[in-house]
Amino acid sequence: MPVFRDHAIVLRTQKLGEADRIITALTRAHGQRRIVARGVRKINSKIGARLEPFNIVDLLAFEGRSGLDSLNQVDSLALFGAEISLDFDRYRAASIMAETAIQLTEMDASVHQFNLLSAALKALAGREQAPELLRDSYLLRSLALAGWTVELRSCVVCGSRDNLTHFSVQHGGVVCDNCATPAMSRISFAEYELLAALLIGAWVRVNNSDASSRQHVSDLIAAFVRWQLERGLKSLTIDEIARRAEQQRGNRGERV
Ligand SMILES: [Zn+2]
Repeated sequence: MPVFRDHAIVLRTQKLGEADRIITALTRAHGQRRIVARGVRKINSKIGARLEPFNIVDLLAFEGRSGLDSLNQVDSLALFGAEISLDFDRYRAASIMAETAIQLTEMDASVHQFNLLSAALKALAGREQAPELLRDSYLLRSLALAGWTVELRSCVVCGSRDNLTHFSVQHGGVVCDNCATPAMSRISFAEYELLAALLIGAWVRVNNSDASSRQHVSDLIAAFVRWQLERGLKSLTIDEIARRAEQQRGNRGERV
């Protein structure tokens, strides 16, 4: 059975049977994995605490054929989970990041996604920035890595660089005054600046923003992420259906 060793971020854990857990983890070089950790829920298990969500570990696992790997060894690299769990706002932000990472890296993981999430969790655990701002910056940047960069330089409808006064969730970017429709959200210059600063992690500018801009921008980012992920999942489903139809046709030996 092939074996691999890698750094991994624990994204989610699920109970399995009496004493085991299934760990969903994002690794540096082996993508997103689901790994069975045996005996970790026993009271005297030494490794259970290492496998809490948001921790970063060094693990050795056997690759399973059914998509479930089997954990052999695990050492802790950074135990962010305990620190993050002390504070509900941080825990909630980390949970949203981890769930988004699960969706974004299910089919297409990269070392950049691993590095981005590691840095965001480190900043959350270290109380470097407000949790909502770390969450929003992470969401914009992880979506950008997945190919869904929010467009802030020019109007997503006509390409104009002037009077960028609105934001369209469906178009994924800013819209000029001429192209705006009533369904789009008007954004102030301060909100535009905040979006741009979150996208590149310009924290001095982010921290200078006002509370009402933060709230509105946060709502826009949440709507943008939801829209993109749902669209992504739909296209995934259509691909899946097409692939299955192809397989069935192949099985029956049919020709188009
Ligand atoms: Zn326009």
